[in-house]
Amino acid sequence: MINLVRVSDQTSSAVAPSFALTSDHLELRDWVHTFARDVIRPAAAEWDEREEFPWPIVEEAARIGLYSLDFWATQAFDRSGLGTPVALEELFWGDAGIGLAIVGSALAAAALRANGTDEQVGEWAPQMFGTSDRPRLASFCSSEADAGSDVGAMRTRAAYDQARDEWVLNGTKTWATNGGIADIHVVTAVVEPELGSRGQASFLIPPGTPGLAQGQKFAKHGIRASHTAEVVLTDCRIPGRCLLGGRERLLERLARAREGGATGRVQPSMATFERTRPSVGAQAVGIARAAYECALEYAGQRVQFGKPIVEHQAVAFALADMRTQIDAARLLVWRASWMGANRQPFTAAEGSMSKLFAGETAVRVTGQAMQVLGGVGFTRDFPVERMARDARIYTIFEGTSEIQRLVIARAISGAGIR
Ligand SMILES: Cc1cc2nc3c(=O)[nH]c(=O)nc-3n(C[C@H](O)[C@H](O)[C@H](O)COP(=O)(O)OP(=O)(O)OC[C@H]3O[C@@H](n4cnc5c(N)ncnc54)[C@H](O)[C@@H]3O)c2cc1C
Repeated sequence: MINLVRVSDQTSSAVAPSFALTSDHLELRDWVHTFARDVIRPAAAEWDEREEFPWPIVEEAARIGLYSLDFWATQAFDRSGLGTPVALEELFWGDAGIGLAIVGSALAAAALRANGTDEQVGEWAPQMFGTSDRPRLASFCSSEADAGSDVGAMRTRAAYDQARDEWVLNGTKTWATNGGIADIHVVTAVVEPELGSRGQASFLIPPGTPGLAQGQKFAKHGIRASHTAEVVLTDCRIPGRCLLGGRERLLERLARAREGGATGRVQPSMATFERTRPSVGAQAVGIARAAYECALEYAGQRVQFGKPIVEHQAVAFALADMRTQIDAARLLVWRASWMGANRQPFTAAEGSMSKLFAGETAVRVTGQAMQVLGGVGFTRDFPVERMARDARIYTIFEGTSEIQRLVIARAISGAGIR
């Protein structure tokens, strides 16, 4: 008889997660929520209009310890895995553009942690955030004009100058969050083109390195307080010790790849994305919840045909769907975050699932919220319009929805789907 249940489909039930928030989590949630409500929200429309990096808000976040390595490191060591998604949901409930300005450096820090040695993490991670009175930024630069979803098409080259023990980087990165305004850039580049994506490595470019310049800054549809730009590398020389993971590890990996064996690790960019996807999902949940709350409140006040519109079943059902989708998205995010913290294998690509569902939920729910608000939802007098623009990026960056589906489909089927 054929066993219709694949072993890989049974994974996440092997060890049961607990989603009970501790008193520490509740305190964390209230603390971030208060900052989001009192500092971020009142400033959100202004920075969206200005399309500039919101330095005063980031400085304030640094002053209270919310923008700091300590803060994110504490959450990373939480064995429940829930500290990070709880904090991110509140931050992005405040505003997604400012939220991304506050967490942008953490993506580069995740790349450092995924690919660097303990010494490299110890030396550079604190510099990515700076201090409470002098915050600093970091940027993770992987995407290129011809290498977005297709990371293997990357063209930025890194050549080793043995005489000077330096790496020389040339190429143009695009879509880099904090690109060009960051003090530290983590850049992926090709060291051996014949090996395709297996010939790539990650490098750290220290502050003030000549040969790194900001290219075009993008004018965006949403998350406009977050800075997104090209990073141009022209004979950019960095010390040999700035190769993440070190030269010995790289040479071993390249030798294995040349022999056609497993390299023992996934591409540097992929390793980073796998670690960060549930966190991106948590951001999307925050945006969706903010829009839903606006819609729920408005529906209780707006009267048409002699009664509040929430009493019209179509509107009430829309709100019921919104809330159900948000709760489902949060559960997927928390499950994936718990799995990551407890070293559970993502055999069905549960991290990608959480990002896919939460990202699409944010787009759907913000759209439904605009519908509930009617005409005013279409204006900038209400924040839902901005939330709908901000939500749109969540089906595009950190792997588009199509790429998440590809990753999940490959994981559950084992087939080489392309
Ligand atoms: C605001 C913003 C911030 C960003 N921040 C960063 C950052 O900090 N660092 C960084 O490195 N990158 C960053 N990115 C880049 C982002 O990750 C890419 O935009 C994303 O991976 C998609 O790549 P692309 O834009 O080249 O689209 P493409 O890869 O060209 O995709 C175009 C369309 O084709 C579809 N498609 C492509 N391949 C397939 C396939 N095999 N099967 C099915 N459909 C497919 C895609 O899903 C999409 O719908 C950012 C992007 C934006 C817009």
